[in-house]
Amino acid sequence: MSASGGVRLVLLGPPGAGKGTQAKVIEERTGARQISTGDILRANRDAKTPLGVEAQTYMDAGQLVPDDVIIKMMDGEIAAMGPNASFILDGFPRTVGQAQALDTLLAKLHLGLTGILMFDADRSALIERLAGRWTNPRTGRSYHAEFNPPKVAGIDDEDGGDLIQRPDDRRDVVVDRLAEYDAKTAPLIEYYGKSPLFVRIDTLKPIDAVSHDVIAAISKNGHAA
Ligand code: ADP
Ligand code: AMP
Repeated sequence: MSASGGVRLVLLGPPGAGKGTQAKVIEERTGARQISTGDILRANRDAKTPLGVEAQTYMDAGQLVPDDVIIKMMDGEIAAMGPNASFILDGFPRTVGQAQALDTLLAKLHLGLTGILMFDADRSALIERLAGRWTNPRTGRSYHAEFNPPKVAGIDDEDGGDLIQRPDDRRDVVVDRLAEYDAKTAPLIEYYGKSPLFVRIDTLKPIDAVSHDVIAAISKNGHAA
């Protein structure tokens, strides 16, 4: 583990569990930076970079992008943050191979994680959340038509720009994304489960109550928020 201060969190959990929503809360509370692999991939897809072009086929089909592509991308993101890195990993790692690569990278940088938060919700809640999700494609902030509506439908409260419904939040793609989660990401619960940093978060509560539990969990790990 590192002597370096800061917050270095992994947010685990299926699509729709609330990782991105809570990452924004932690970001505001601690100053740590949210690193969302999904947001980075979507920005590359929209800019038609070689990475984005390669990732798009997988994203459209609700499949994970291959480990080598993701690991190279995240090595660059994390290494660029320097010795006092403070980050919230949202959507990474998503396979055991990615978790092993993260361990190797953090050891090389003499950095340790400060928390591993596992967000879960039952399938019907996940499907309902993804079906009603409205996303700001510029910032990644998400709203929900019923559970967290913007002040004006379809418009982001913060930047006043349009919100979109992600194409992969369509019901048929969601089914494939949840199957990928079960096959490839759920094994990370075993991988991290014995760590003293591992905390389960009950996300079936309302958003504010989940935020309260998240802040309590990261404060308990010695990093006052
Ligand atoms: P993830 O990043 O894990 O895919 P999001 O944070 O984008 O999930 O949340 C998915 C959807 O569910 C969004 O529309 C969000 O507003 C909503 N949501 C998040 N947390 C809750 C909650 N605790 N209760 C109800 N809806 C929630
Ligand atoms: P998300 O925004 O986290 O729901 O991710 C959207 C899509 O991006 C996923 O369905 C995958 O296709 C891809 N993706 C995001 N993060 C990863 C990752 N860590 N490993 C592989 N694919 C990823």
